Amino acid sequence: MILDGKALSKQIQEEIKAEVDAMLEAGQKAPHLAAILVGNDGASETYVGHKTKMCDKVGFESTLVRLPDTTTEEELLQWIDDLNNNDSIDGFIVQLPLPKHIDANKINLAIDYRKDVDGFHPINIGKMAQNLPAYLPATPYGILQLLERNGVETSGKECVVVGRSNIVGSPMSILMARNAKVGNCTVTLTHSRTQNLIEHTRRADILIVALGKPNFITADMVKEGVVIIDVGITRVEDSTKKRGFRLVGDVNYEEVAPKSSWITPVPGGVGPMTVTSLLMNTLQAAKSK
Ligand code: NDP
Repeated sequence: MILDGKALSKQIQEEIKAEVDAMLEAGQKAPHLAAILVGNDGASETYVGHKTKMCDKVGFESTLVRLPDTTTEEELLQWIDDLNNNDSIDGFIVQLPLPKHIDANKINLAIDYRKDVDGFHPINIGKMAQNLPAYLPATPYGILQLLERNGVETSGKECVVVGRSNIVGSPMSILMARNAKVGNCTVTLTHSRTQNLIEHTRRADILIVALGKPNFITADMVKEGVVIIDVGITRVEDSTKKRGFRLVGDVNYEEVAPKSSWITPVPGGVGPMTVTSLLMNTLQAAKSK
């Protein structure tokens, strides 16, 4: 069966919109999300544009700060300081990747963790690890929603995560091991140094793949009945498409889907849930004021 991120996103966005309407009726202001975009990377422009559009859809205010790719680290830190201290902004994100001359870790640390709706700040990651209330990183949060709202049982299952990035694989492994409603898995976190990856992926009841290599996971690498979460999104040239490319996941969908009990498509699986989770975190930030 398909874990339909597009349909679930729409449903959650309607729930958020209803909450915003209630806030406005009660005389409160709408949640306000700001995004900083440095430079003009094509994919980043698309992501930020989409996030702004989704804010409009659910009734949030949004502000986009566009900065040239010549922006210095110091100038960006000044912008972050401004947003940290701007009471009208509930939460903000700095779109990644940043130009090479800017230290992304330094930028991340400068964000007030109470406004860190991307959930990347070490304080939020630490709280998450200790099962305390925190802004969860958007992609892992979206995956938890997909599992929970489709009633996928996780307790006691073998969960294998491929990829250990700070924004997807690593937090995902922590979340799936937590003693929580979606969690209680026995987790294996794999990466490029893992020996015999296939021995791990074949054991997985739940396989979460985030490495950025199109069609990497093939049918022989999974067992019957596996739950597949495909996070990968790679733009592959395709002259039959108007925009010149199509989006391909890390899992060979055609081959693997017939063996799976649940699977996320690409596009339309994890991607839409990521943006929706950002909206959920922003609503939370506004409500916690
Ligand atoms: P990164 O490039 O930061 O990390 C990739 C990870 O994969 C690394 O940990 C790397 O290991 C590991 N890896 C690489 N090759 C192998 C291999 N052969 N076997 C096992 N592990 C390997 O990726 P991200 O997590 O940022 O993104 C992964 C994918 O997910 C990308 O396609 C990205 O576009 C997509 N993405 C999608 C989102 C969504 O909303 N759907 C959101 C975020 C990302 P090592 O650490 O050893 O280098």
